[in-house]
Amino acid sequence: MKTETIYYEEPYCRRFRGKVLSCRPKGKTWQVELDRTAFYPEGGGQPGDQGVLDTVNVLDTKEKDGIIFHETDRPLKEGSYVTGGINWPLRLSRMQEHTGEHIVSGIIHRLFGFNNVGFHMGSECVTLDLDGVLTQDQLHVVELMANDAVYQNKKVEITYPNEEELKKIDYRSKKELTGAVRIVTIPDYDVCACCGTHVSHTGEIGAIKLIGFLHYKGGIRISMLCGIRAMQDYEEKQNGVAAVSALLSAKPGEIAGAVERLKESETQLRQENAELRHQLLERKAETLVPENGVFCIFEKNLKGDDLRSFCLELKKKSRLSAVFSGENGRYQYALSSDDDSRVVGKALNAAFHGRGGGKPELVQGSVQEEEEKVRAYFQALSEK
Ligand SMILES: [Zn+2]
Repeated sequence: MKTETIYYEEPYCRRFRGKVLSCRPKGKTWQVELDRTAFYPEGGGQPGDQGVLDTVNVLDTKEKDGIIFHETDRPLKEGSYVTGGINWPLRLSRMQEHTGEHIVSGIIHRLFGFNNVGFHMGSECVTLDLDGVLTQDQLHVVELMANDAVYQNKKVEITYPNEEELKKIDYRSKKELTGAVRIVTIPDYDVCACCGTHVSHTGEIGAIKLIGFLHYKGGIRISMLCGIRAMQDYEEKQNGVAAVSALLSAKPGEIAGAVERLKESETQLRQENAELRHQLLERKAETLVPENGVFCIFEKNLKGDDLRSFCLELKKKSRLSAVFSGENGRYQYALSSDDDSRVVGKALNAAFHGRGGGKPELVQGSVQEEEEKVRAYFQALSEK
């Protein structure tokens, strides 16, 4: 027997009484069937409702062949009567976003002739896929117009036209429809076949905000938020801007310029810092003396460029220079030799579980061995 639905006749029904017709376990949850329900089952891009049946949680709602199943975290007694309660903030948010999506899709269809070919109400935002490309400026116009539709507080009309009447109506639909078709009309903005739940007047949407778009399958995918979630998003962004503004001691409207100046200053400091490190290593190289023409130096916290330039600096006054940096038996190294550095490096790698390579003048790599053993290795080399 098909479940009696309440959500179409009374989309604002949050509480209702129903009889448990069946309750079957499914994995770690239960599938509860009632004689009647106000829980909207997943469909038309809108996720299934959540809420409670007495004290049992409803995690999701799905429909199959006209029977609606409430996925619960605990079982309910068959034959008993329960009170259903819809998670209303969640459902209202979905009604706001579903109705907002109609307005946006309707405006785009009328202005540009593109179709909404994919609609998803996600946990982060709503996405809407178009079969054509719009620019940022065009989307901005769409957003302004969509919010104008909200301010006008238009009544959202739901009708079930017969076959003859339906032929005369120009409506948006993702597929060929048969049987009783539910038409959702927002006067002057959109006519669409839809099975979802909507607010009764557009003013209840509160706000429609297009938060981004990207190119997708030859068209674009728009991300949007409405009402409750648009406000949450505004709150989060405002908090973020306020925090950045305080950190930079800049007015909220001027933080982008302040960050740009900060980045320029950072780049300059990095360059100055690199130059100073280079000078320091040059001075240090001047004070060091090779042993039998060989340098084996261990330095703390030398990376990439510094390791390389220090090694080459030392090479100027030796026949072989090797600089190591690291700790606990794991070292990065740079090595430069009068002989082919690649051959010397290869022998070093073979001796100490190393890897790396480079050019005849310089090789870089890493080894895994105690400092003392590496030093002894170069001591032996210097005595050859
Ligand atoms: Zn809809």
